[in-house]
Amino acid sequence: MSYKQVHRKILRALQKEDLRKGSEAATKDELKKRRYAIEAHKYSLKWAEDVKNAKSSMLSDIESSVEKFREAFEGKNKHFYFAKTPENLKNIIYSIIKPGDVGVKSKSMVGEEIELRQFMEGKGIKIYETDLGEFLIQLANEKPAHMVTPAVNMSEERARELLEPVVGEKLSDVTSMVLGVRKFMRKIFFSADFGMVGANALSADTGSVIFITNEGNGALTSTLPDKLIVITSVEKIYPTLLDAIKAVTTQAIFSGFEYTTYVHIINGPYDLYGPKEIHLIMLDNGRIREDDLKETLLCIKCGACQFACPVFQVVDGAWGHIYTAAIGVPWTAITNSKDTARSLAAFCLECGKCREVCPMKIDIPELIRKIRAKEV
Ligand code: SF4
Ligand code: SF4
Repeated sequence: MSYKQVHRKILRALQKEDLRKGSEAATKDELKKRRYAIEAHKYSLKWAEDVKNAKSSMLSDIESSVEKFREAFEGKNKHFYFAKTPENLKNIIYSIIKPGDVGVKSKSMVGEEIELRQFMEGKGIKIYETDLGEFLIQLANEKPAHMVTPAVNMSEERARELLEPVVGEKLSDVTSMVLGVRKFMRKIFFSADFGMVGANALSADTGSVIFITNEGNGALTSTLPDKLIVITSVEKIYPTLLDAIKAVTTQAIFSGFEYTTYVHIINGPYDLYGPKEIHLIMLDNGRIREDDLKETLLCIKCGACQFACPVFQVVDGAWGHIYTAAIGVPWTAITNSKDTARSLAAFCLECGKCREVCPMKIDIPELIRKIRAKEV
């Protein structure tokens, strides 16, 4: 995206008054929830430090961290794949599933990063997003506005317009929307050929996949279909299962969830329960690097910096390309295009709010400055 295209996108968002008001209210509410969650868990700041240290140790030699995880993960009907590029990942997926297959998927930023759903749909593979926010984004054919709450900017009215034709009934309020989608998805879960999940963390000692959900969709996605595909990326590896659990808990707390509803740990498959085979694909896509942008990999994708950012508070997802606002700028430089990241960086106010709230203490404004100044 050029500077002009970003500018136009931001101007268009500024003209939508309802979007501006909705974004402002939603972000204030999210920051309040985050404060309460941190207060409720006094250990969370100490855990954030532990997570940063554990993550740093794995990032010091990413290739051997990947190898350690691979050794612990592989086993009977458990297949590991390394994908250097998005194209590699898509080809691997295409060797596991075939046109005509139907899949259920829970939220994955790696999937968004490489536009995986769009790729699969283009190949005749039907895929249903099972997270309510992501399902709305899929129906609207839009990009997520935020890492954790993808449809944060969508009004109730717009959600109703999108859901009623699919669910086939009148949806009077938010509860009826949730129940309507739940009923619709239930049938699909039982007939799906494959499930697809992202990972919030991976443990190098036990080869476990850890992910969190609030809606219970992750449990059904990862246990009902016979085939499970995990898509993940190299910076999610932690030395031990304990570190990985601390990481997902820290992510949830700093995202503003006082209690995350479900924490899943996958070690299977087992002969009698759950999927019969698991395929884990680990993506690099520019992450294995040694320049200053490497600091970005400490990010645990809690989304706090996005909510704290005054630009995001006004225009939300319009300031970004897949990864939006604040840390979204360096993520764009790593996984998509440095030119697009540079166009985005021009709109940073250098206020430092993002750095203040980051549990990993990433110097986001400095990273953005370096991108803008072509120092990285
Ligand atoms: S420094 Fe830039 S990215 Fe960070 S909160 Fe301020 S405007 Fe947003
Ligand atoms: S940069 Fe920090 S605050 Fe932003 S999403 Fe990553 S961990 Fe959270």
